[in-house]
Amino acid sequence: MAETSDFTRIRYDHPVDGVARVTLARPEAANAQDRRMLYELNDAFDRASRDDDVRVIVLAADGRHFSSGHDLRDTEPLTAFNTVGPYGTFDAPGQEGYMAAEQEYYLGFCWRWRNLPKPTIVAVQGKVIAGGLMLVWPFDIVIAADDASFADPVVAFGVNGHEYFTHPFEVGSRKAKQMLFTGEAMSAAEAHRLGMVNEVVARDDLESFTLDMAGRIAQQPLMGLKLAKMSVNQAQENMGMWNSIQAAFGLHHLGHSHNSQRFGMIVDPSGAERIRAQAKR
Ligand code: ZN
Repeated sequence: MAETSDFTRIRYDHPVDGVARVTLARPEAANAQDRRMLYELNDAFDRASRDDDVRVIVLAADGRHFSSGHDLRDTEPLTAFNTVGPYGTFDAPGQEGYMAAEQEYYLGFCWRWRNLPKPTIVAVQGKVIAGGLMLVWPFDIVIAADDASFADPVVAFGVNGHEYFTHPFEVGSRKAKQMLFTGEAMSAAEAHRLGMVNEVVARDDLESFTLDMAGRIAQQPLMGLKLAKMSVNQAQENMGMWNSIQAAFGLHHLGHSHNSQRFGMIVDPSGAERIRAQAKR
């Protein structure tokens, strides 16, 4: 595990008694997630989970926008990191290698973070796009600034959606389809109405509101918090959440494989232009 002082994409601190805060600190790139950021996040969440003085974990972001999604310019090889999943075969040809990679640092991390044994709160402002949602939906409580918006426009790239496919659980089946088919962003107010976010607050109040709630939760006994979290998570699993994610992940890789055969790359190269047009609406 990296020392917190080694982090280059995130910051780690204890702003309130019993609370660890992890902050995305790449605002110059709208907190685009390269592999280094994802591995630093995973290290930070492990650290907070294993620290007996921490009862609540907060994820926040520097800058105007929470996250613009995966950093498609990232070229750092996986060999630079201590991988955490059992996958390997990252260099295998065909779809095998890339599927293993996405199992490791996209779907694997999201499911791991969703099951952290302590309550998690994410504070969101500005734009959250595609893979950006993978840093929101795995967490327990979502506090949104009133300027936050949420979009998964990757159907334009010829795939089904981002890799942590919980859309129907987050916004309901019909809105999930609308969100995916149009690629258009959902406002914080709409996300709140649908139950995707817990609270909407003024942008200036986002930090204080989030830390205040985190501090109050941190007064509860950790055992009770763990049991409550596991109970809700197991209810979602009984509704088929994990099986749904796995099925969608298979289709996601059908999409990547199709694009590789047709365009020689994992996404439809005409998608970027379509997404720019959607963002203007
Ligand atoms: Zn993918």
